[in-house]
Amino acid sequence: MPPTVAEIDLTAFTQNVHAVRARLSASCELMAVVKANAYGHGAIALAESALQAGATWLAVARCDEGMVLRLHGIDAPILLLGPVWPGEIDTLLTYRLTPVIGSLEAARLVQQQAQQRGQRVAVHVNVDTGMGRLGLQPHHIPALLDEMETLTHLDWQGVMTHLATADHPDERILQEQWQGFCRVVQTLHDRGVAPRYLHAANSAALYRFPQTHGQIVRPGLALYGVHPFEAPAADVLRPVLRWKTRLARLATLSPGHGVSYGHTFVASRPSRIGTLPVGYADGLCRRLSNVGEVLVHGQRAPFVGQITMDMCMIDVTDIPQAQMGDEVVLIGAQGSDRITVEAMASHCGQSPYEVFCAISARVPRRYI
Ligand code: PLP
Repeated sequence: MPPTVAEIDLTAFTQNVHAVRARLSASCELMAVVKANAYGHGAIALAESALQAGATWLAVARCDEGMVLRLHGIDAPILLLGPVWPGEIDTLLTYRLTPVIGSLEAARLVQQQAQQRGQRVAVHVNVDTGMGRLGLQPHHIPALLDEMETLTHLDWQGVMTHLATADHPDERILQEQWQGFCRVVQTLHDRGVAPRYLHAANSAALYRFPQTHGQIVRPGLALYGVHPFEAPAADVLRPVLRWKTRLARLATLSPGHGVSYGHTFVASRPSRIGTLPVGYADGLCRRLSNVGEVLVHGQRAPFVGQITMDMCMIDVTDIPQAQMGDEVVLIGAQGSDRITVEAMASHCGQSPYEVFCAISARVPRRYI
């Protein structure tokens, strides 16, 4: 086993799925968002665990991500959140991925290829109610409705929107988006189109705005054990990922000795400096240099000097029991202390999403 690994606690993940599930009505389904390799946790294992724990749908961002899940035998419906690319429609039809339609052009393209193959395809329509990223703007919905009769091979299974501010204390934009979405749903109903699934809720909306639950919710972050907004939620979500490494070298440096490129750290006392085999090529943010901390023997040790591509240094002067080979925790618990992903993210000026996604493919994921 290499020294640097991300341990993924599938029991914690399962408990988080159950905690989220418990917030939903019996008829509301759970779509586990496993895009970007399940936020860096490993898409296949986490998709399988989510389905075993009660999720009925999965969501990915890219066609390839959905294809990989299918090739690993996952049969559940998979929503493709990202834009539809003409060159990928064949693949999405072959692998029975459910595209999100965000424009009339996309609807026509999918229709064309589905018709050629003699295959009906379930689709979800994305309405841009305020995110400004993907989807049909509400004033384009009538044109889609006018064309629906010619889109003979599309099964209008769902309508969705994505909320831009569900984790912000100010609810105004969220309420506007939600009302805009309800108006679009009404327009569809008035024209006799009643999709089975209406969905809008990410993790934050799922917790804060139950009115947005619809027939499916689409959480990601909460399933990975991170509370999606600052107010304490009733559920205790369990962190799933623990990132750890080992001490590869220990050296005592005299006062005045510099550490790493540019000598941004210079020892002011006789210092025991530990070298860790993890660097920015593993996804460790360089901004943690001289700022962040790790755990050694349950005690905090600061990063010293610039984090380099494959290695970084920590000061263990105050942890005399530290020895070569000892476990060092970058994210997660050790002893009675814990470095949270939120704390690391705030040191890096990032969000927990970015910290998770940055952990590179070079770091093996070990499922426990
Ligand atoms: N739905 C869509 C369209 C998304 O893009 C995402 C994530 O970015 C989610 C749901 C899940 O969001 P969260 O991880 O905040 O629950």
